[in-house]
Amino acid sequence: MSDPLAAAYARKVIEEYCIKYPGQYSIQQIINARGLTYREALLSGSIGNIIFNGTSGTVTVSSSLGETSQKVFTAAHELGHFENEKIKFKSCSFEEVSGLSRTSPREMSANDFAAELLMHEKWFVEYVRGKKLESRMLKETANYFNVSLSAASIRYAEIGAHPAAVIMSKDGLVKWSSINKSFPIQFIRWGEKVSDLSYTSDFFKGDTIPSEAEDVPARAWFKESFYIKDSDRVFEFNIPFKNYNSILTVLYF
Ligand SMILES: [Zn+2]
Repeated sequence: MSDPLAAAYARKVIEEYCIKYPGQYSIQQIINARGLTYREALLSGSIGNIIFNGTSGTVTVSSSLGETSQKVFTAAHELGHFENEKIKFKSCSFEEVSGLSRTSPREMSANDFAAELLMHEKWFVEYVRGKKLESRMLKETANYFNVSLSAASIRYAEIGAHPAAVIMSKDGLVKWSSINKSFPIQFIRWGEKVSDLSYTSDFFKGDTIPSEAEDVPARAWFKESFYIKDSDRVFEFNIPFKNYNSILTVLYF
């Protein structure tokens, strides 16, 4: 469940600067407007941090992040710590910012702030309306909002036009899931081994997996559901994080 307060803080920023569309102002401009300084530097063990002494502060983003979209999201995440908590210091790992790990509520709230700031609900709903849910559309959505494919997919599962679920797995086990409230099945057991019937499982075996969505037996993910027949299929689209032996799976019917 996302943090409504963090999303409200992000909307306040959008309204205060009359931001009408994604990217109208760069994240650096927004950070400066909030009275903070933005910089990039070599960081070890983290990809971003925020320092705030009560009157001034700095958002630092790792200069070694490859994608601009990663830098933007990390900066927005750090701004989230500032707006949500007025925190004095926080250093954040890739796992925290990308949502690979969802153990700290404050990290999740910082991500909720970043998601709403970069993919404001109204913009997102309008952009995806009437578009068929498929892997190409998710890639186009990520490009349009200048976020990672995983960030766009997580957002889509929350507020997209067609019911979808996202599942994060690590080392062969389901870590967490986020299921759209209109998705026909609302339960995926966390901590369970990923089913051999899924391409997600192939990823953990080191096999090549499809780069687009492919259908798999619905039982692969919903074996406990009474509503699923053996013949039912579900589309599965995988976004791997090879360096972390983790993978985000998007499911839709
Ligand atoms: Zn953080």
